[in-house]
Formats: sequence, structure tokens, C-alpha cells
Amino acid sequence: MRKVTLTFDNGPTPSVTHRVLDVLDRHGISASFFVVGRKLADPAAREAAERVHAAGHWIGNHSFTHDTPLGRMADAAASVAEISRAQDALGALAHPRRFFRPFGGGGALGPHLLSRAAFEYLCAGRYTGVTRNAIPRNWEGDRGWTDRAVAQCMAQDRTLLVLHDLATGAMQYLDEFLSRLAGGGAEFVQDFPPDCMIIRDGLPAQGAERFVAD
Ligand SMILES: [Zn+2]
Repeated sequence: MRKVTLTFDNGPTPSVTHRVLDVLDRHGISASFFVVGRKLADPAAREAAERVHAAGHWIGNHSFTHDTPLGRMADAAASVAEISRAQDALGALAHPRRFFRPFGGGGALGPHLLSRAAFEYLCAGRYTGVTRNAIPRNWEGDRGWTDRAVAQCMAQDRTLLVLHDLATGAMQYLDEFLSRLAGGGAEFVQDFPPDCMIIRDGLPAQGAERFVAD
């Protein structure tokens, strides 16, 4: 049985997130949402995040501005503030395990994901750092991402898939995509695969250094 974990990054986007929640509810799937902290200043976005939380999905931190990858920020304190400000904005909506997903620009993984100061801050604050092993480029917005995502999910036993609840048009295909996966025998689970957690409750995983700039 292929297991698939769904994550939605860069929201909340009220017009899209509510639709994603409706689709997940229809399929009986629990997922995770990695939220950009500054977006919660918009009351409609906060309301969407509250609905995400109330529905039993997990909410993680995806930085405050999602501007410059933290490993490329010259100012160490500013890179730490990207994490702390977003966590403050999330407040009680954040999952107790303090999930944080770094961003790389175009989905690339590497030492640009985290500054040394941000990495140490995540460890000291007992965060759990979450990456992914499938990214079907759904920001391109067309239907093509669904074929890429189905292929990625079927090629491995355990997939952590990144989608985006952004207003690109891509999420109009979510329902059909989930039906295809379920029809192909995939099982949806909310937990993250161990090899996609670069820090677990503050403890760095083996190899976590490859995501840290020096
Ligand atoms: Zn992102």
C-alpha cells in the first residue's frame, strides 16, 4: 500500500483554502498546512486558518514573509525572526510539535534553506523541521501537476507531497487528483515520513547539516 501525506504551503488564501478544506472533508483526508505568518494579519486568512485547525488538520510555520531563503539572509537575527514572528502569529493554531518547513525558491533543497542561527534556534526551541520528497510544481497552475504528482506518489512507498493553496487555479484539480490516487490504492496518512524530518522535536536528523549554510 502506497502511503501519501498531503501538505499545503504558502497560504492561507481564503478563496482557495476553504475550497481545499471542502475537498479534503469530502475525501475524509487529514493533511497539514504550512502557513506564511504575515498572511494571518488579514482577518479572512486567519479565519481560514482557524477552520483548518478546527477540522483537525495540522498547522506548521512556513516563515513570516517567505521572502528570502533563510540560508541566504546575511542578517542572522533577521533569519531567526522569520521563524519566531510566524510562530507568534500562529499562536495556539500551531501544532504542539512546532512544525517548521523551510523554503528554497522553486522547491530546491540545499544549504540555502537554513542559516546556522535559524538551525540552532529550531533545535533549541524543540521544533520539528519538515521537508518533502515530492513537489509536482503545482504553482504552474495547469492540470499537468496532477499527472506529475500521481507518478511521484506511485513511484515510492511513502510520499510527502507539497501542494500550494494559492490562487493559481491548480487546486480546482485537487478533487480529481485525490480520486485518482485513491483509485490507485493510495492510503492517506497525516504523519510525516521519518526521512522528511530534518529535525525531530529539537534533535537534528543525520545529514541535517546539508540544509544549513555556513
Ligand atoms: Zn513555500
